[in-house]
Amino acid sequence: MENQNFETLAIRTQTERTQFDEHSTPLFLTSSFVFEDAEDMRASFAEEKDKNLYSRFSNPNVTEFVDKITKMEGAESGYAFATGMAAIYSTLASLLDAGDHIVSCQSVFGSTHTLFTKYFPKWNIETTYFKAEDSENVEQYIQPNTKILFLETPTNPAIEVLDLEFFGQIARKHNLIFVVDNCFATPYLQQPIKYGADIVVHSATKLIDGQGRVLGGVAVGKADLIREIYLFSRNTGPAMSPFNAWVLSKSLETLTIRVEKHCENALKVAEFLENHPNVTLVKYPFLKSHPSYEIAKKQMKLGGNIVAFEVKGGIDGGRNFLDKIKLCSLSSNLGDTRTIVTHPASTTHSKLSEDERNEVGITAGLVRCSVGLENIDDILNDLRQALD
Ligand SMILES: *Cc1c(COP(=O)(O)O)cnc(C)c1O
Repeated sequence: MENQNFETLAIRTQTERTQFDEHSTPLFLTSSFVFEDAEDMRASFAEEKDKNLYSRFSNPNVTEFVDKITKMEGAESGYAFATGMAAIYSTLASLLDAGDHIVSCQSVFGSTHTLFTKYFPKWNIETTYFKAEDSENVEQYIQPNTKILFLETPTNPAIEVLDLEFFGQIARKHNLIFVVDNCFATPYLQQPIKYGADIVVHSATKLIDGQGRVLGGVAVGKADLIREIYLFSRNTGPAMSPFNAWVLSKSLETLTIRVEKHCENALKVAEFLENHPNVTLVKYPFLKSHPSYEIAKKQMKLGGNIVAFEVKGGIDGGRNFLDKIKLCSLSSNLGDTRTIVTHPASTTHSKLSEDERNEVGITAGLVRCSVGLENIDDILNDLRQALD
C-alpha cells in the first residue's frame, strides 16, 4: 500500500515472511547466507541481485530496522551501526578527506566533541565551532575547504534549539553536506531532511529503544552519500547486530505513543520546575520562556523528553539535589521509560574548567532530567521532595 502514514510505516514495514507465515518478524541470527550455485554467488557479489551475503554488510533484521527509519525520516536509504557513535564516526570518516574542514555547533554530544577535537586532527581534519546564540554569523566560519555542516538540535545538555530551515539554506548556498544528529527529537518530533539535511544520524540507544536495553545507531539520507557510508562501513565493520536490530525494530512500533507520553510528562515537569522557588532557570523547548520557543514550535511536533534546570547553590546545590532523589535514577543514559537525572558539572563535564563549561551552557547547578513514563504525580512528588 502506497502513501502510508508515519505510525503505519513504523509498524507495517516488515521483512518478507518466511515459509512459516509468522506475523511478527523472527530473529535472523545468522552471520552468513548461502547461494544456489556459482552463478547465483557471482551475481550476488556483483550486486546484480539484492541478496544478503554476510551480516557485516546486511541482515534481514537490520534491513527492516533501517527501512523503517529511512521511511520515518523521509530519506532515500540508510545503514545501521552498533552504536550512535559508530554512526557519527563512520558517516564523517567516509565522507571526509584529509584537509577537509567541519563547521559544527559547539554544543554537541561529548564523544562527538572528542572526535572533532582529538581524533580528526590526526588526519588533518579541523573543526570550527560556533555557538548556538551566534547562529546568524555561521557563514563567517565557512572556509574554502569546509565540507560538512554538523549540528544537533535540541542540544545536550543545554537544550538549545537551532533553526534547521536556516542551516539548510546555508548548507545549500555553500554546497556543504548538512549532517544532523536527530537523537533528542526522534523522527516523530522532527524530520531534518524536510529542511535540507543530507544525512540524519541517530543514537538508537536513546528514545528509539526507549527501554534502556540495547545500543544502536543509524545514518539515513541521500542515496549517493549513504552508498559511500555503506562501502566504508562494510569494510571497517561497525555493523549493528541482528539481535539489537530486532529489538529496535519492535521498539519503533510504539515510538509515537511513547514519545507523545514522554513529551506530555516532560512539559508538566518543566512547568512545575518553573514555579519552584529553588529553581532559578528551566530550559525546555516548548516553554514560552525558552529563547528559541518560536523555532521549536516551527520544527518540532512536541518539546521532547529532556528538561534542563538550574538549582540554587551551584555545584553543591546540584549534588545535594541528586542525593535527595528517591524514585528517579541517577544514570547517564536518557530516553528510557525510567526518569533519569544527571548533574553534568560534577560528572560528564567535570574535566572542563568552569569557563569551558559556561561556554557550552553547563552552569554549576544545571541538572538534566530525562523524563520517563512513570505516573506524572510520582515523578513530580520525587522532584518536589528533593527540591524542598
Ligand atoms: C547518546 C548520544 C550519542 C551517542 O550514542 P551511543 O549510542 O551512546 O554511541 C550521540 N548523540 C547524541 C545526541 C546522544 O545523546
